[in-house]
Amino acid sequence: STTNDALIQRRQKAVANGVSQIHPIYVDKAENATIWDVEGRELIDFTGGIAVLNTGHLHPNIKQAVIEQLDRFSHTCFMVLGYESYIEVCEKVNSLVPGDFDKKSALFTSGSEAVENAVKVARAYTQRVGVIAFTSAYHGRTLAALALTGKVNPYSTGMGLMSGAVFRAEFPCSLYGISDDDAIASIERIFKNDAAPSDIAAIIIEPVQGEGGFYVASPAFMRKLRALCDREGILLIADEVQTGAGRTGTFFAMEQMGVCADISTFAKSIAGGVPLSGITGRADIMDSIEAGGLGGTYGGNPIACVAALAVIDTFSREKLLQRANDVGKRLKQSLTKMQKNHQQIIDIRGLGAMVAVELMENGKPSPEYCAQILIEARERGLILLSCGAYGNVLRLMVPLTAPDEQIDKGLAILKASFDSILP
Ligand code: PMP
Repeated sequence: STTNDALIQRRQKAVANGVSQIHPIYVDKAENATIWDVEGRELIDFTGGIAVLNTGHLHPNIKQAVIEQLDRFSHTCFMVLGYESYIEVCEKVNSLVPGDFDKKSALFTSGSEAVENAVKVARAYTQRVGVIAFTSAYHGRTLAALALTGKVNPYSTGMGLMSGAVFRAEFPCSLYGISDDDAIASIERIFKNDAAPSDIAAIIIEPVQGEGGFYVASPAFMRKLRALCDREGILLIADEVQTGAGRTGTFFAMEQMGVCADISTFAKSIAGGVPLSGITGRADIMDSIEAGGLGGTYGGNPIACVAALAVIDTFSREKLLQRANDVGKRLKQSLTKMQKNHQQIIDIRGLGAMVAVELMENGKPSPEYCAQILIEARERGLILLSCGAYGNVLRLMVPLTAPDEQIDKGLAILKASFDSILP
């Protein structure tokens, strides 16, 4: 049998450097929130493959659905020959995305692809080209999605300027002194300085910024954004790739924002570890692209569709939305206790079970502490991830299906790691 070190060496020879790897660990198998590496070591997973495993690794319902599908067929390309599960996923998501209007959906494979297609639909519907995205936004690594992503290093380092017609507004973030009104003013400034509103097709926003640091947009801000979009005939795109599929305590985070998006994206946890993404929006908007203008060979692959149906079914069977809120409370309570001993823990925040801890030293972001805690926790058996414009935010994305005892065990490791790293 092999070792982590041996695989790291092979990787260095065979895999392009641009593909990073945060933890030097190679997985042998996984179940729910537990991972075993190739050396037989057991680890607790608080990352869920970056928010993909709200239902845990290999949930029995999802595994069963995939196995049954594999006994029937694995691929036709929906653009060639249809199958019921694709339609059923669209029907289900149409009813889950907030909005009291007719909706239609289209399915793809990755979150980036969903974002790209949301922009295509917005351009076709509005006959405009410009898009406004926010500071520290993350919308993906494909070229147009990357242009919307609000962090140069490492995502577009060395690749030159991204394509134009993307304008950057400020994401409201009280911790860094940006109020809701400041953020709205930054959009008005774009209209004054850079582009007429009549040239803007859409404003795209994550209701809770994911990679950007788990900052939650307020319902008041979303209302202002919605009003501004309505005033100017601009579409509002909610990128729910990370917030969607139940992480925030509602199936989509926009449900808690009091207004509806015109187009929503989803991916990640929607299919519990099988690649599936999609966009859902107002039927008239979604239909503004002619047949053949949306799609892709693998988009809405049958294995992914049955997995998504199993995820949605598991959410209602196991009451996982309630569970997301309970898990979120459990995490926040425990973190609040840890905060008492460590002044570097400057903020604990999140929506539902999308919870993060921000670390600062002397009023400045501290990515160093964050990086050290990632290593310390790993050595103690807990896998964590960081995020944030400065890399100083720890984010907890434990499967909602993880038992309380295991979540507590993970939190105890986090506490021990804080105690050992933070002065
Ligand atoms: N949008 C958001 C909000 C995301 O968090 C991500 C992935 N982290 C993406 C888009 C891109 O998704 P993918 O990596 O599947 O292309």
